[in-house]
Amino acid sequence: MASLADTGLSFTTLAHPAPTSAEARGAVLANPGFGTNFTDHMVTIDWTEGQGWHDAVIGPRQPIALDPAAAVLHYAQEIFEGLKAYKQADGSISLFRPEANAARFNRSAERLAMPELPEALFVEAIEKLVALDRAWIPEGEGSSLYLRPFMIATEAFLGVRPAKQYKFIVIASPAGNYFKSGAPAVSIWVSDYTRAAPGGTGAAKCGGNYAASLVPQAEAIARGHDQVVFLDAAEHKWIEELGGMNLYFVFEDGTLLTPELTGTILPGITRDSLLTLAREEGLTVKEGRYSLDQWRADATSGKLVETFACGTAAVVTAVGKVSGTDGEFTIGSGGPGQLTGKLKNRLVAIQRGEAPDTHGWIRKVG
Ligand SMILES: *Cc1c(COP(=O)(O)O)cnc(C)c1O
Repeated sequence: MASLADTGLSFTTLAHPAPTSAEARGAVLANPGFGTNFTDHMVTIDWTEGQGWHDAVIGPRQPIALDPAAAVLHYAQEIFEGLKAYKQADGSISLFRPEANAARFNRSAERLAMPELPEALFVEAIEKLVALDRAWIPEGEGSSLYLRPFMIATEAFLGVRPAKQYKFIVIASPAGNYFKSGAPAVSIWVSDYTRAAPGGTGAAKCGGNYAASLVPQAEAIARGHDQVVFLDAAEHKWIEELGGMNLYFVFEDGTLLTPELTGTILPGITRDSLLTLAREEGLTVKEGRYSLDQWRADATSGKLVETFACGTAAVVTAVGKVSGTDGEFTIGSGGPGQLTGKLKNRLVAIQRGEAPDTHGWIRKVG
């Protein structure tokens, strides 16, 4: 891991000329929703070929100026991350595994031909923003400050090659429960569209993957479902993941299965954390392939008792019903299963500081 010393960067802090009033902020925090309200500040750091990272600033959140020829607007050189800051019962603030986000950000950067950001700088940028905007962290169950670090190609150039200028930005958004309805179990639609193909960008957290998933997701909604599940591109047979969440299958003998990371699945940090927690519970957890046909057969026979999706935004969400062009099946009783609830509670308790952090996952923000 590159240290801060390697970059020689220090942050310039710019005071906000007109911060949000405590009253207006209180109204937002009383009902934060997801992704529609933002804190007063942001971090920006620029990168220029030959110079590296420079001009680290934490200042007022405001629109950014981009040349209309900026490469990101034409060829989608963009990557992002998502993580949360939690207000603990004792009033302290914690981040959950931000180093893992930093490492994944750099793997995404490599795939999108973008410069890597020293991991310590990534984490410091987040810590600085959370500390400055700490009054924006909502309290209470399911609430957090959602952090969105991202990087865009800013060079004005229409030729097709990696850009020579980039901007790294972190913004923050108070968040309540992710699924508006607070639904106990979601229903999902098996898409005929493909999210990721072998050799493609499926393992990178890039905006382009999401742009391509909007039509499949809209189709799922139009058909009355909450989310879309994607199968593999080559055989259209193996279950991969949802548009922005990984999947786990729970069998009646207590074993768990999650699709293996073959390069077309996003390596979720929630997925990885649950692998560890489930093994600690004494459960057998396998990473492997699971077909849609087997899923349907096992759900019908009762061999499969639960399925859940996981990701930072919604943490753990039960899947109750699966529909596709071949028909529909229900998982378990159609509601959230026992193990789904147990694993979710274990993870949330660690994130909120209510259970001991035996894995070094929690990073306190001063
Ligand atoms: C971010 C993301 C996930 C979940 O990753 P977490 O690190 O657990 O938040 C799963 N799938 C896709 C496609 C994603 O972009």
